[in-house]
Amino acid sequence: MADFDLSCAKCKARMDQGFIPDRGQAYMDRRRPYMYVATWVAGTPERSFWSGITTRGRGEMPILTFRCTACGYLESYARLDESKAAR
Ligand SMILES: [Zn+2]
Repeated sequence: MADFDLSCAKCKARMDQGFIPDRGQAYMDRRRPYMYVATWVAGTPERSFWSGITTRGRGEMPILTFRCTACGYLESYARLDESKAAR
């Protein structure tokens, strides 16, 4: 992750690293939802009766999202070497 040193594509200001949490299980306890890091999934969405959509057999990678400190523009990356991060 250290090799990310981004400037905003819109206004050239510094961008801070972050992530977008996946609160998909929030229905279990809305006060303390169980969260993941949002992931990129290969291919097109496939419906599943039990889970809405299925990601079985698909490549998945955690998404890093950077936010511009000046204008708020968001830029996301899903890279192979980031896939070892917590999911
Ligand atoms: Zn900006």
